[in-house]
Amino acid sequence: MKRALKIFDLRSDTVTKPNAKMLQAMFNAEVGDDVYGEDPTVNRLQKKCAEIFGMEAGLFVASGTMGNLVSLLTHCKRGESVILGDRSHINVYEQGGISALGGIFPTPVPNQEDGTLRTSDILSKILKENIHFSRPKVIAIENTHNICGGKALNVDYIREIVRIKEENKLKLHIDGARIFNAYYALKETNNRLDPKDLTRGADSVNICFSKGLCCPIGSVIVGSESFIQEALRNRKIVGGAMRQVGHVAAAALEALDSVEEIITSDHLKTKKLYKGLKEIGCDVDAPTSNILLFTPPKPFLPSQFVTLMKERNVLGSVAYTNKIRFIPNSGTSNEDINELLEIIKQIIKTKA
Ligand SMILES: *Cc1c(COP(=O)(O)O)cnc(C)c1O
Repeated sequence: MKRALKIFDLRSDTVTKPNAKMLQAMFNAEVGDDVYGEDPTVNRLQKKCAEIFGMEAGLFVASGTMGNLVSLLTHCKRGESVILGDRSHINVYEQGGISALGGIFPTPVPNQEDGTLRTSDILSKILKENIHFSRPKVIAIENTHNICGGKALNVDYIREIVRIKEENKLKLHIDGARIFNAYYALKETNNRLDPKDLTRGADSVNICFSKGLCCPIGSVIVGSESFIQEALRNRKIVGGAMRQVGHVAAAALEALDSVEEIITSDHLKTKKLYKGLKEIGCDVDAPTSNILLFTPPKPFLPSQFVTLMKERNVLGSVAYTNKIRFIPNSGTSNEDINELLEIIKQIIKTKA
């Protein structure tokens, strides 16, 4: 008998698809022209995101990249600089959009293994007013940190960054594409944590719904009323003003209703996969959230190992750091993890 081909797709959490409840919510959504501010579903989503993260207002944008771009276009004029991690998504994966489209000058400082930026490195880039220097305007941090393996920045660290930005009259942007992953990861050791604790003092936060939260597209940026008013103009100029987009926002609202269930389940699966890979001889970084980075046993090279896995329908990617990256997601079941570990074990055996 022929069995349907099972593909274990752990390349990213962006491969997730909307579930039946989300599709139903999209179908039923009440919509209007959002450029006139008349889409009730979009308005509800923006308000809800602002509330969750303790901000005055929110703005729905097409993607995480657009959320970062629009936020930084709003904070900076041409020639002003953003202090950010050298391994941040904005610095590595967004085509230099802030420079290409906004004339904004990136000032990268080294990301540490845990996704943080050293405060001494940040301070060394906050240059005093001088005719030779670009004016620093924003500090941008990323939570969880993608390239650093989904590490969550904790509340004490964020507070320290807020202190620095306030002392130096800068703005703070948080690329929180996976901020819900950060929240539920940190909540494991601090039951009283509130999402607002991760964003207090920030001037803008970018939240993605198209990663682990299974939406087809969409991010929301949140900040003050005046920030969002100005961001609205910048969203328009990059072509991001949309019309009856409540059909999409409805999926995000539905995702928020089950965010805890989705994210904590992804984190549990990631821990399970971590243990399994270690047991079969891989060198695996202990995960914090849903991103797993590992090196296969010798003599396999990461790229070669990814090809061998692909031939057996297990999809991973080679990460920026040349480790293999797996992101368990809603399309991955607990049973899938047992099965794919078995497949990986077989691959390792071929070289024994
Ligand atoms: C994916 C991601 C983005 C960008 O999101 P897109 O929707 O792919 O444009 C921004 N920041 C981080 C940290 C991400 O992981």
